[in-house]
Amino acid sequence: MTRRSRRDKLELHVKQLRLAFPTPWPVTVVFAPGSRVPKLGEKRAVRGLTYREGRKLYVMLNTSYPEWAIHEVLNHEWAHCLDFRPGAAELQRSQAPGSLPDAAQRQWEHEQYHDDHFYLHLGRIERAYESWED
Ligand SMILES: [Zn+2]
Repeated sequence: MTRRSRRDKLELHVKQLRLAFPTPWPVTVVFAPGSRVPKLGEKRAVRGLTYREGRKLYVMLNTSYPEWAIHEVLNHEWAHCLDFRPGAAELQRSQAPGSLPDAAQRQWEHEQYHDDHFYLHLGRIERAYESWED
């Protein structure tokens, strides 16, 4: 058996996701050190995020975390990509109650983006991922 590098394993994981879980819009995965990843308040940089530019989705993964955590976050962000429907993000944002304090605002957004539909995608991905490992 050949030993794969950390980066090769991540690239393979992305390839497996593309094959098994095609996304409505094309996804580019960006590997970024913590210093390039946005922060939540005063806390350290987020582990990963998904965002849209035009008709393209981007998954940014914070490579400062341990390898197992990056794979876990990749599955999580891919579930967002499957869930990203044209107009949905904008609709959710426009409904966000703007007067809420930060913590409540974040809680509200978290609930919007992590609904039952999202976890169905994530559950399917995680079950497949267990069979891919090695
Ligand atoms: Zn999420």
